[in-house]
Amino acid sequence: MSGGSGVPTTMQALVLTGPGEFEMREVPTPVPADDEVLCRVRSVAICGTDPKIVKGAFPGVWPKTYPFIIGHEWAGDVVALGVGVASSPKAAERVGVGARVAGEAHCGCGTCANCLSGHYTICRNYGDASAGHRHYGFTSQGAYAKYVVASAKSLHRLPDELSFDEGAMLDTAGVALQGVRRGRVGVGDTVVVIGPGPVGMLTQQYSTAAGAEKVLMVGRGTRLRQAADMGAVPVDYESVDPVQRVLELTGGRGADVVIECAGTRTACTQAVGMTAKGGRLVMNGIPTEPVEIPWAKIVLDEIDMLGVRANPNTSVPALALIANGAVEVRSMITHIFPLEEFAGALSTFVERRDGALKVVLHP
Ligand SMILES: [Zn+2]
Ligand SMILES: [Zn+2]
Repeated sequence: MSGGSGVPTTMQALVLTGPGEFEMREVPTPVPADDEVLCRVRSVAICGTDPKIVKGAFPGVWPKTYPFIIGHEWAGDVVALGVGVASSPKAAERVGVGARVAGEAHCGCGTCANCLSGHYTICRNYGDASAGHRHYGFTSQGAYAKYVVASAKSLHRLPDELSFDEGAMLDTAGVALQGVRRGRVGVGDTVVVIGPGPVGMLTQQYSTAAGAEKVLMVGRGTRLRQAADMGAVPVDYESVDPVQRVLELTGGRGADVVIECAGTRTACTQAVGMTAKGGRLVMNGIPTEPVEIPWAKIVLDEIDMLGVRANPNTSVPALALIANGAVEVRSMITHIFPLEEFAGALSTFVERRDGALKVVLHP
């Protein structure tokens, strides 16, 4: 390890100790492997997946064992380099000590066919640390802590004009951009986004940046109003049949691209009904219960169904569009808590207290 003078050997971290159980603990500061760097975490956002991991919804998978530190949507500064990074002038220039960076959760093995073709979020060696795979905050130690290690290739320089809190939105922004890319949203397209949560609202913004003629947002309440304020045509599923309404608003055709970001059983089925003949249906929300699919419509209308696994190769353009103002993330950060107040932050996020959209922690 190079640099790191003044880095204490232990640190405060939010540690999961069992399903539904967590506490602040003093733990050893992680040591970067050859291709990793050690970062001081300045801001880390709660992801929609985090409360499910805290609850213990993925036993034996996320996390494999307890105790474990989660958290994967973070930004901070580099404080020490692994031996391999320090000995590479290019790597040290990009993520050297003092660099302001934002992290990606997925680090592929780098050698399987999927990684070699750029699809590292569907690495064939997923979860195999000995093969070089890391999924920070899921299968490898995450960022709900004062320090975190990350592979140099999982880090991106934060443009000077962006704050650490905005940097912590990179994961969410990159996932939204991946959905827009998978849907091949193009100039003049009509896009439906289902679910005005953080990913949905960023999907709306990236679709507009990609040239969509109009974006319809399906949702309810204050979140739907917020999406409408940002330029979406609102479709309130509490007061109208959303499929009928989308058909009305598209001259009976349906949308060129539908991007499902809610993951509920009803929304997933409705998404198919809203897609035009020859259209694309992007599945970005992860359903937790079985979904009914009108299979014949997909066959006869030649609908492309496209899954989204996280944010491969989207961080650089996602950050650039935030930095140049085409996409805005600041207004989505509704709450900031110190890491010590994780319990309060978590319930604020889960219960959507006081209009909570994105809740950020400062270790
Ligand atoms: Zn996330
Ligand atoms: Zn791989």
